[in-house]
Amino acid sequence: MNIELFSRQVRTPVQNVKYVKPDGQCLNLLVKRDDLIHPSISGNKWRKLKYNANVAQTGNFSGIASFGGAFSNHIAALSALGKLAEIPTIGFIRTDNLDMQNPTIKLAIKNNMRLVPLSRADYRRRHDLDFIASLQTQFPNHLFVPEGGSNDAAQLGVKELATEMEQQCQFDKYAVAIGSGGTVNGLLNALPHPAIGIAVVKDEQLHKQLQQQHKSKLTLHYNASLGRYGSVTPALELFCLDFHRQTGIPIEPIYTGKLFYNVCFNREFLGIKDQETILVIHTGGLQGINGLVYRQKISPIHWNAVIASSENQYSDLENL
Ligand SMILES: *Cc1c(COP(=O)(O)O)cnc(C)c1O
Repeated sequence: MNIELFSRQVRTPVQNVKYVKPDGQCLNLLVKRDDLIHPSISGNKWRKLKYNANVAQTGNFSGIASFGGAFSNHIAALSALGKLAEIPTIGFIRTDNLDMQNPTIKLAIKNNMRLVPLSRADYRRRHDLDFIASLQTQFPNHLFVPEGGSNDAAQLGVKELATEMEQQCQFDKYAVAIGSGGTVNGLLNALPHPAIGIAVVKDEQLHKQLQQQHKSKLTLHYNASLGRYGSVTPALELFCLDFHRQTGIPIEPIYTGKLFYNVCFNREFLGIKDQETILVIHTGGLQGINGLVYRQKISPIHWNAVIASSENQYSDLENL
């Protein structure tokens, strides 16, 4: 193992952008560009995996195992980490058959991740301690990291994101997308500011738990009108393309598209006042665009410019 890549001092930029809505209203947003943190270990996944890699190394584990859907950003990031840091990785994938044409699966295989398909019924037990123990006997001495990478070690990395945010700018509230909740939870624990969380997965138990823990400090919204997890409504697609055209910032429909859409168009509901400065956290995840193109949920003709800027943006990574 060689986890040197995590010792590099990273500090992703905060960018001030203007977005003009179709009704002419001009919004000023601060964007924390965590999508620029690394070309293959994207955004919040870098933050969450950093200290997990450390645990794997110091604990003398022989590898890291985790869970994800067939198009998961976490699986993509963990496989890249495994390749770069020379750590064997196992991905338990929610699928009956591994589709070798799926771009995320292809990437994981290229990164030498060992992929194990789990039926939907088995996958539902991914947080169940008995089930994890049975996997641990089959794959001994691996560090088991939960789906999305959200565990205690992840909180340490998210705390570093919070420290950067506080040092880099003044803001009244911040906004972030919620999947497994590890990122928003870590930020709420580290920062005094109110948070706006846009949930992209319907998970009532998680949302209740987050709300109980953080009370009125968290405004949590699951915006059903933008479609279920992984689906793309025409309004959401148009918004992502328009936002990129106006700001140059590439976003995707699964996480960050829903986040920015809500910050721009659902302001009153989210309690955002016009004079407030909102720091929106770009958590990365742009590899997900390939999966949407593959499933023909979006057309590459419209997305080529976004894909190109998500690939080109690392040319000046050295200057971050
Ligand atoms: C995984 C992911 C999230 C969700 O983060 P959680 O810590 O699981 O809530 C948000 N945005 C992007 C781009 C992601 O890939």
